[in-house]
Amino acid sequence: MPNRSGRCLLTVCVTLLLALGLLASPRPLLANEAPLTPVSLQLLWYHQFQYAGYYAAKAQGYFQEAGLDVEIRDGGYHTAGRAADPVREVVTGRADFGVSRSDLLLHRARGEPVMVVANIMQRSPLVFLTLERFGFSRLEEVGDRPISVTLPGVDERISAETLATFLAAGVNLESLNNAAPSWNLQDLYAGRTQLVPAYSTDGLYAVRRHGEVPVIIRPADYGIDFYGDLLFTRQALVEQHPERVAAFRKATIRGWVYAFENLEETVDLILEAYPRRHGDIDRDLLLHEAEQVRELMQPSLIEIGYSNPQRWKSIGDQYLAMGMIDGYELEGFLFQPAPPPLTTLLLTLWRWLLPFMSVVVVAAGLAGYLLFTNRRLKEEIQRRREAEAALQQLADRDGLTGAGNRRLFEQQLQQEFQRSRRSRHALSIILMDVDNFKRINDEYGHLVGDQVLKEIVQVTRSMLRIQDHLARYGGEEFVVVLPETGPEEACLVAKRILEVNRTHPVQTEAGVIRYTLSLGLSELRDSDRDPWQIIQRADASLYEAKHQGRDRLCIDAAPTLP
Ligand code: GH3
Ligand code: MG
Ligand code: MG
Repeated sequence: MPNRSGRCLLTVCVTLLLALGLLASPRPLLANEAPLTPVSLQLLWYHQFQYAGYYAAKAQGYFQEAGLDVEIRDGGYHTAGRAADPVREVVTGRADFGVSRSDLLLHRARGEPVMVVANIMQRSPLVFLTLERFGFSRLEEVGDRPISVTLPGVDERISAETLATFLAAGVNLESLNNAAPSWNLQDLYAGRTQLVPAYSTDGLYAVRRHGEVPVIIRPADYGIDFYGDLLFTRQALVEQHPERVAAFRKATIRGWVYAFENLEETVDLILEAYPRRHGDIDRDLLLHEAEQVRELMQPSLIEIGYSNPQRWKSIGDQYLAMGMIDGYELEGFLFQPAPPPLTTLLLTLWRWLLPFMSVVVVAAGLAGYLLFTNRRLKEEIQRRREAEAALQQLADRDGLTGAGNRRLFEQQLQQEFQRSRRSRHALSIILMDVDNFKRINDEYGHLVGDQVLKEIVQVTRSMLRIQDHLARYGGEEFVVVLPETGPEEACLVAKRILEVNRTHPVQTEAGVIRYTLSLGLSELRDSDRDPWQIIQRADASLYEAKHQGRDRLCIDAAPTLP
């Protein structure tokens, strides 16, 4: 039962819990009241699902939560016919962030201060597209056919992947009949070009829908496995506002997660809010593209945005091997989001820890209460045990001398009798009676008589082994039970008892008193039916000792031993 202190403990726990609960109660997050920082993102191509994460991050307010007002600019071709070049835009400061591909390392190696913020597509979507009716399916078969791919000299934007693939195929670039790509599939259908770059995410689908049979040549067929779309920025922005870059990255990744969880909604968002799209991009194509993009990103396998330095090294080594660069350095190329400031960290920790701490406090309170009651219970049990032991002592012991009482003696005699019967061990009994005790009482008084009785027990006990039993048999009569003891050994013990008592001086107020005992010894016989037969014989021996003049030992009514 919980007592006063237990209830106190409970009250403290409950109060603590209530206090914590109040602190933990949902409060609106501190609104970011500072004005939003305007930043711009330069895409590589027209609006489509390939950039879904950015649109979702903006629409869901993730950028806003990060303190950013993001303008998303489409890529593709400007009115003057020039292709948008995100690297140029970002490096010159006209845009803050851009979308690029593995090519970014080429720019970096050539001294342009660009940094990868997040690797969005773990696999590259770039493929080369031709039609079945043109009759070839490998780059080695291109010969002098009219083609249009992004190779040096034909496009402002270099495509390291294209170059690497052609070099890996062993094609002589000089002999190619290559023109800058228009990225318009009509040119392919019309035969003005027979090979165009395309994104695996939408190109195939568009060609099939047009009723043509596409043939795809993949860089992977030539051992080229580069990263696809990635988010990048310029080094100065990372140096001056690392928190802005980290916030943009985090919001983008959240946007991608949302986009994949809400495909249809995101496709509708692109259709409604981002009208500058290419060719026949429509709802069906966007949904198809979404699945293709998911495969290239593998969000269920790889953390969105993850950059693998080893993989970048292997890409860099391939550029080197193909002579596209003279050297490169990955150091400082991959943006590492800095740990959040301490206050943010503490706030986050607090928010996460609070529910956990509440549980811990309840558990600790309960455990404390249980421990407390358990200790009280143990103390109570111990107290009762001690009381019981004391009671038992009282019930078994003679109050005056501390020797076993008659009840305990009878129990012990019974047990030892049965044990001896079972194990066929000897058993001896000594009955003792103080000689002329009446005289001591009469001469010195009852209290002195009592003192003599006490000292008889002390002195006699000192002669016995641990397994022997000494009990008060009657007024000034005592009995000793000697288990596993035959007549000779018992006789020696009896003689020692006789001797030690005879020579023991009792110091009393009235002076030194000396006394003697008479002893009767008997041992268990095979014929004994019950232990009382031994006692009877010991009693007879004792009587005999008295009869013979006291201060002596008699054995089993046998001849007296002095
Ligand atoms: P004997 O040698 O024949 O045994 O002579 P005795 O005087 O001892 O004779 P008996 O055994 O008849 O007397 C026992 C006396 O012991 C009687 C009684 O007053 C005394 N007595 C018994 N119990 C106690 C006790 O607890 N304290 C005291 N002081 N005396 C006791
Ligand atoms: Mg007596
Ligand atoms: Mg006596």
